[in-house]
Amino acid sequence: MFILLKRRNILIGLLVVALTVGVCFAVTATATSAYSVPKIGKTIVIDAGHGGADGGVVGVTTSVKESDINLSVARSLKHFLKTKGYDVIMTRTTTDGLYGMTTKNKKLKDMQERKKIIEKANADLVVSVHCNSYPRADQTGAQVFYAPGSEDGKQKAEAMQSVLCNSLGSRRNAMSGDYFILQCSKTPSLLVECGFLTTPSEEKQLVTASYQEKVAYAIFTGIHTILEG
Ligand SMILES: [Zn+2]
Repeated sequence: MFILLKRRNILIGLLVVALTVGVCFAVTATATSAYSVPKIGKTIVIDAGHGGADGGVVGVTTSVKESDINLSVARSLKHFLKTKGYDVIMTRTTTDGLYGMTTKNKKLKDMQERKKIIEKANADLVVSVHCNSYPRADQTGAQVFYAPGSEDGKQKAEAMQSVLCNSLGSRRNAMSGDYFILQCSKTPSLLVECGFLTTPSEEKQLVTASYQEKVAYAIFTGIHTILEG
């Protein structure tokens, strides 16, 4: 009985060692592969809209802040792009705005900082992430905006819109929009409205981590389609 127990203990011990080695190997393999993604050689600026004192649109039933959803989608988008080998620069990585200690003209200072980051990045594409609003609760769907008068912007926006329609079921069309972020630099820029926080059914989706990831993956697919065909 004693010998049997001892043998059993040795077997359990060996099993624990084997499992530990296995886990260590798996962790090492994962860490190695994370660093060995071949670089695509293209840089994307991800601009999570709003932040800090400027929460953007407020969810009609949950009071969720648009700025928080934008940041969450932006973080997931960064992950998908990095995993594919893109270089990524985020205009903001926290819930704070970019106006620093300024007490006056926070919005202006915030937008100037975004412009500075975008100009310095000299990226291949800027994607600004937002959520939409409308006075009535009957509007749905992700929508892409491009700089007015930009034929290149229009083509890129239509390619992105097509992916969003296929992946997220949006029925909207890409449109030109008079937004600062689309016109503040020479870098091709798109603004993606992920959906309407003023429509309860869409807000219900937008507040979930799984839908935010789904939107991020759709935007990633759009970027990859635009830049790599
Ligand atoms: Zn917004």
